[in-house]
Amino acid sequence: MNKNQTIQIIGAGLCGSLLALRLGQRGFKVEVFEKRPDLRKVDISAGRSINLAFSNRGIKAMNMVGIQHKVEPLCIPMHGRMLHDIEGNTLLSPYSGKENEYINSISRTDLNALLLNEAEALNNVTIHFNHKCTSVDFENNRSHFYKYEDKAEFSKPAEVIIGTDGAGSALRKSYYLGKKFLFSFSQDYLTHGYKELSILPAENGGFKTFKNALHIWGRDSFMLIALPNLDGSFTVTLFLSYEDGEYNFNNLTTPERVTAFFSTYFKDALELMPNLLDDFFKNPTSPLGTVKCSPWHYKGNTLLLGDAAHAIVPFYGQGMNASFEDVTEFDKLLDENFTDWESLFKAFETGRKKDTDAIADLAIDNFHEMKGHVNNAIFREKRNLEMA
Ligand code: FAD
Repeated sequence: MNKNQTIQIIGAGLCGSLLALRLGQRGFKVEVFEKRPDLRKVDISAGRSINLAFSNRGIKAMNMVGIQHKVEPLCIPMHGRMLHDIEGNTLLSPYSGKENEYINSISRTDLNALLLNEAEALNNVTIHFNHKCTSVDFENNRSHFYKYEDKAEFSKPAEVIIGTDGAGSALRKSYYLGKKFLFSFSQDYLTHGYKELSILPAENGGFKTFKNALHIWGRDSFMLIALPNLDGSFTVTLFLSYEDGEYNFNNLTTPERVTAFFSTYFKDALELMPNLLDDFFKNPTSPLGTVKCSPWHYKGNTLLLGDAAHAIVPFYGQGMNASFEDVTEFDKLLDENFTDWESLFKAFETGRKKDTDAIADLAIDNFHEMKGHVNNAIFREKRNLEMA
């Protein structure tokens, strides 16, 4: 592929910044446009999956760009699930019997910032923040942007345009609205949404509960989870129906009801969360959805990658990992003898889509597993102990 071509990347999130870094390392001219301010300078993470489970697919991608040694210090190993029953009993269910097999908790901001630093350190990569892509003319290889600073619109051509602009992708919308080719698209929401809460560090800066686990309070029709952060806090996420059941997001509208809900179902968690009400009423409630679409590319002009191509619900902890794997797989194809982008994009989608469809379906199944069976596991274990 011709290295003198400019590759335009829309979205400097996890996938876009990794892609910029890798294409930059390969010698392409890369220009990235990101809607939001630079997260290394402005705090923009509140309320949106502050930390993530980072697993082998992600590690492989970091090794590809040679920065896993810089990522490791950002990680907290989680060796298993810490299950909490309604009475506050806990059971650690290891992911594997082996000491060196675990998943990691990592800060989204720290990881994204590291990828941005590495990408920006390359002379051939430029990143523009506060530039929102409004649409893409995929037939003429030109993206339209709104620059917040100047309150002005402009457009920019590139030989190749890659949309890594997440679940609400502007490039994907342009495919859909353009009606220039047969574009299949589905977006399915769960009846549940999520809200982020927190367990703050102990006064001595330590962790208030067991550090090296993914904590789960499964309650059949809803659940709470918590992942550790390096500063001693935990990011807690409540998954709950918008409208079904005695307690739901639509009717948890007063401090009394929120407190009653937590003291009934998550008593041991509530004891660790004196800041619950502040978080609950300050942080947004957000929907959870699955996006599938095809084709991901238009000729050799444009391509969707990451959540823009395949957003999934978070219950397998694989959305980011799969987006990173997109970049690893894309990178492998750059070593093959493709002479045009269209054949490469086609081969990429053919090889990749069945896997991303599979993880999307598994992630929905795991939602039911986590909130239901996880709860039962404690009771099974207790029964076994009583019978022993
Ligand atoms: P994003 O991270 O969404 O990045 C898209 C970027 O594009 C953003 O920076 C955005 O500002 C920018 N952008 C958007 N629109 C435009 C535009 N019009 N113009 C310019 N820029 C634009 N995954 C895991 O692997 N493990 C987990 O534990 C995990 N937990 C999760 C928990 C929750 C609650 C949620 C919601 C998701 C979770 N995920 C997890 C999924 C993970 O967050 C996503 O899969 C991942 O962020 C996808 O990366 P991306 O770069 O494709 O998209």
